[in-house]
Amino acid sequence: APELSVRDVTVRFAGLTALDAVSFTVAPGSVHALIGPNGAGKSTCFNVLSGLYRPASGQVRLGDDVLTGLAPHRIAALGVARTFQNIVTTEGTVADNLMLGRHVLSRAGFAATALRLPGAVREQRAHLERAREIAELTGLGARFDSPVALLSYGDRKRVELARALCLEPRVLLLDEPVAGMNGAERLRMAEVVDAVRAQLGLSVLLVEHDMGLVMRLADEVTVLDFGRRIAHGTPEEVRRHPEVLRAYLGTPGEDTP
Ligand code: ADP
Ligand code: MG
Ligand code: MG
Repeated sequence: APELSVRDVTVRFAGLTALDAVSFTVAPGSVHALIGPNGAGKSTCFNVLSGLYRPASGQVRLGDDVLTGLAPHRIAALGVARTFQNIVTTEGTVADNLMLGRHVLSRAGFAATALRLPGAVREQRAHLERAREIAELTGLGARFDSPVALLSYGDRKRVELARALCLEPRVLLLDEPVAGMNGAERLRMAEVVDAVRAQLGLSVLLVEHDMGLVMRLADEVTVLDFGRRIAHGTPEEVRRHPEVLRAYLGTPGEDTP
């Protein structure tokens, strides 16, 4: 059974159909890429999946749970975490940003921690330990106590990823994780996404224009254009698909290095 399933999802904005009965599934432990030209509906799809937009019709499921209609925090609690196309980190250190994610999971809660009740202090320590592990996994171990404002762009993008991972998601939504990065930062992000999938075993839905990254990371690809699904298959299959070449990737040869 798929981990995530999107069935016939339609989203309309005044006079515009941003998603037109779009369907796809994400298999457990796999990376599924969602690609297509600007305005195709990729971020809109993420906004539906994370509960920010309610679709006009269609259904989203995480395993057996129906996500459609749930508030964003309920969806996050059920196991769908995301990053944004435009970077979203808060002030403070890397540790502060990661602990924001952990506080959501904290059972003892802030009050018990503030009172320094032994159980709460133990739990807090465990959350900090886990945040540190996730920082290591995302290549931020040495930056754990650094102010985010002092980090490079590539590091800050990985802080955002690490914070999403601190929610212990089953499905991770990555919206253009390497946009604006240089070559070295892109490579680093690709390695981190590989490591995350291998070590945490979660499913990833990846929106990305960098076809090199898509070819490297994705098991399956769905291609959108003007809100419609125009192709689906392995990266190799969609790369040769005539409709995809026409709408997005250019004539054969153009995108080959
Ligand atoms: P992509 O991420 O594939 O570049 P988007 O999902 O951001 O595309 O946008 C798809 C279409 O929906 C675009 O035409 C965009 O202008 C429109 N759109 C997105 N969000 C809104 C909104 N909140 N209100 C009105 N139109 C929107
Ligand atoms: Mg865009
Ligand atoms: Mg977008």
